[in-house]
Amino acid sequence: MDRRDFLKKSALAAGIGLAASELPGAESLAAGKQDPRITSRLKAKGWIREPARKIPLVAEAEVVIAGGGAAGVAAAIAAARQGADVLLLERSAFLGGLWLGGLVLPVLSTHGVGRDGSWQKVIHGFCSDLYSRLDEMGMVINPKNPTPDPEACKYLLDRMLEEHGVRVLYHVLACGVVKSADRISSLILETKSGRVAVGGKVFIDCSGDGDIFANAGEDYTEMKYHIGAMWRVGNAANLKKGIRTPIEGVKIFHTRGEEDQDGLDMFNLSRLQIKLRKEMWDKTMQARQMPGGENVFLLETPPLLGVRVTRILSSVHNVTLEDSMNYVSYEDSIGMSGGSDTIVYRGRKVKAGERPVWQIPYRSLVPRKCPNLLVAGRCFGFDEGLAWDAREVGTCFVTGQAAGTAAGIAALDRCAVSAVDTNKLKKSLIEQNVML
Ligand SMILES: Cc1cc2nc3c(=O)[nH]c(=O)nc-3n(C[C@H](O)[C@H](O)[C@H](O)COP(=O)(O)OP(=O)(O)OC[C@H]3O[C@@H](n4cnc5c(N)ncnc54)[C@H](O)[C@@H]3O)c2cc1C
Repeated sequence: MDRRDFLKKSALAAGIGLAASELPGAESLAAGKQDPRITSRLKAKGWIREPARKIPLVAEAEVVIAGGGAAGVAAAIAAARQGADVLLLERSAFLGGLWLGGLVLPVLSTHGVGRDGSWQKVIHGFCSDLYSRLDEMGMVINPKNPTPDPEACKYLLDRMLEEHGVRVLYHVLACGVVKSADRISSLILETKSGRVAVGGKVFIDCSGDGDIFANAGEDYTEMKYHIGAMWRVGNAANLKKGIRTPIEGVKIFHTRGEEDQDGLDMFNLSRLQIKLRKEMWDKTMQARQMPGGENVFLLETPPLLGVRVTRILSSVHNVTLEDSMNYVSYEDSIGMSGGSDTIVYRGRKVKAGERPVWQIPYRSLVPRKCPNLLVAGRCFGFDEGLAWDAREVGTCFVTGQAAGTAAGIAALDRCAVSAVDTNKLKKSLIEQNVML
């Protein structure tokens, strides 16, 4: 073998120094060999065919939930309360998702204007259960928009899931679905133990980004939104800037970040991660120049980047801003939400304090194709006008609790999620102190 051949072979083995289309197993785009089932939002330099392989089925449960954010934990506890055996899958090392890992601590959307014109609290249920437990620990402030200490809350969520007999798998990324006809039979997980599968009767997509429904072939829309960050600073008791937390002197700061961002593009996410980390450091140092901020320090940057919206399910009935502004009531309401910010409705600015309370129909959690999949949290079915409120933590608790309850019923009654008896669902939610 001469030196040129040797170098070429070594480069092939290492997969470097060659055009992507020359890599072993690569298929040329230009040659039109691309498998039509393969999609990618990224510009491909070529295509690699992944060899088929057998993977072990390592766990089974009646209800399997992907994602342990605000929606996922509410769903897991609610499904367990129905008597279902529940498995919760989480890619990170903690529960709470963006709420605790994005340090977006104040729970919003809890209040709104009722039909009678009064200012009402409409989010109770799991949100109130959690608030009481955190209050006993002295680890929450602001009953209107509960703001917990994130570490106390992570600890508490572990305890609550344990008390309800929910099995939690951390450090697992749900990266694929296996279907039999329209039904999902298992999820494929990428883990440190290798690629494995978990089976279930009913699945709930609480991944925030709709990873499961996208993989399952459901229809959805995508939204670009501003991607920003919140972070914790210490020694800030005398500083005017920042939002208070239960720990004296610890506050959260916020940066809106960049507008109109794709939260599913890994290159973009990496760019923003680096940029925002610098911004958080710089803004904390600037706070040292402010009165009362002399000893401020950067306590914690958020473990999760502030991605607000990506995929939104095209559900059986997406709830609309129009409905939310007009007290439209649904037979299958599973809970209510308020508004958390000023929005523009019919050309008029409506402040958070003027926003009507609005109902969420069960159908907005139900996908159109898979009979054993439900969706909760920031990617359930809503229209773009509602994107500000429909994804707040309070609303995620509501959709999560309802999806978990419905999944538990569907698993134990052996029916499709669309065939769940909504009277039974509503009765159970009322018993759990949910306001419909
Ligand atoms: C910067 C910013 C500020 C905000 N401020 C507020 C605020 O002040 N108050 C408020 O109420 N709301 C606020 N929000 C909105 C709110 O925080 C989120 O919409 C809400 O927490 C979403 O909860 P979720 O459970 O639907 O999704 P997420 O919190 O995104 O949770 C999804 C969970 O699933 C896991 N996961 C994702 N994909 C997979 C997978 N494939 N396999 C396994 N696990 C997976 C994630 O690690 C995560 O734990 C803010 C959002 C941002 C970004």
